[in-house]
Amino acid sequence: FRSVPDYHDATYKNQDLPQVKDPSSIRILQWNLLSQTLGVNNDNFVCCPPEALQWQRRRNLLTQEIVRYSPDVICLQEVDHFNYLKKVLGTQGYVGMFFPKPDSPCMYVNDNNGPDGCAIFFRTSRFELVKHASRVLEVWKVQSNQVALLAILRNRADGKEICIATTHLKARNGALLAALRNEQGKDLLDFVAAAAQDRPVVLCGDFNAEPIEPIYTSVTTHPSIRLASAYATCEGEPPYTTWKVREEGEVRHTIDYIFYSKNKFQVEDVLEFPTGEEMGPGRVPSFNYPSDHFSLVSDLHLNHNVLSPL
Ligand code: NDP
Ligand code: CA
Repeated sequence: FRSVPDYHDATYKNQDLPQVKDPSSIRILQWNLLSQTLGVNNDNFVCCPPEALQWQRRRNLLTQEIVRYSPDVICLQEVDHFNYLKKVLGTQGYVGMFFPKPDSPCMYVNDNNGPDGCAIFFRTSRFELVKHASRVLEVWKVQSNQVALLAILRNRADGKEICIATTHLKARNGALLAALRNEQGKDLLDFVAAAAQDRPVVLCGDFNAEPIEPIYTSVTTHPSIRLASAYATCEGEPPYTTWKVREEGEVRHTIDYIFYSKNKFQVEDVLEFPTGEEMGPGRVPSFNYPSDHFSLVSDLHLNHNVLSPL
């Protein structure tokens, strides 16, 4: 799994990774899909041919990649085609929920497909939904334009419950924005802690923050939901989770994460990303890769000492 060599290669298209069979193991997929409206109109990927960004082309690559990994839980950001995903993933045994950003930049573009937001899907043969909740993240008690979505899921095999949460924090560089992300993150952690209570937590998202930013430390040192990053535990944070070419040059950094309750799960494996050579000089998105972010996948094993709720 860790070294699936060329998982985007056309010859692997129909070769699914085996489904997780152990009822205590859960495969998580985290992915910023790249909003269709923003990708075409706002992002200005200078090396990506416009034809590669056509929705009719991208949508197949997006859903093929998700389904190929056979995840039990899927956390997505920049979703502006939720109904399409719901329909396609519905045929594969998933149900999902969506929460849009209150003032999505998509809405300022003509011919948008609605606001972008966060979505969670889960496999209904493995889990049932106990409850879900959404939040517009607050900064100094004032609502921001970033959101979080969470679901409490009950494992059908053993009755154990987990809390899955996802977010997409404020983008852009600078100390002030890093501070703002940290405030959003603290509000997010309070929201997740209140909903999760004693349940194991998986918190996935595009945090728009490299590991050196304050928000990464806030997440990994939170006193009640004790979280660690799956990739960091397994092999160290990767050198990039997004790699694109804009007018100012290459933008390559690690800003997407799968965080998990470190005293409740063991990380079994993580999926590697394509190498720069595999991507090619234009990086991503491209004809082969539908998003400027890579999908993160991890198998998490729930410790046996985690109890079912009474
Ligand atoms: P964010 O700063 O969080 O970014 C929004 C999106 O832009 C993200 O999905 C982000 O992707 C992407 N992005 C990041 N860097 C770049 C870049 N260098 N070039 C292009 N796209 C990039 O924005 P907010 O959600 O806070 O929204 C911004 C506000 O701006 C909105 O509230 C709206 O009012 C306003 N707005 C107005 C517009 C107008 O025409 N009047 C147009 C757009 C927004 P990622 O996370 O992957 O980096
Ligand atoms: Ca983006």
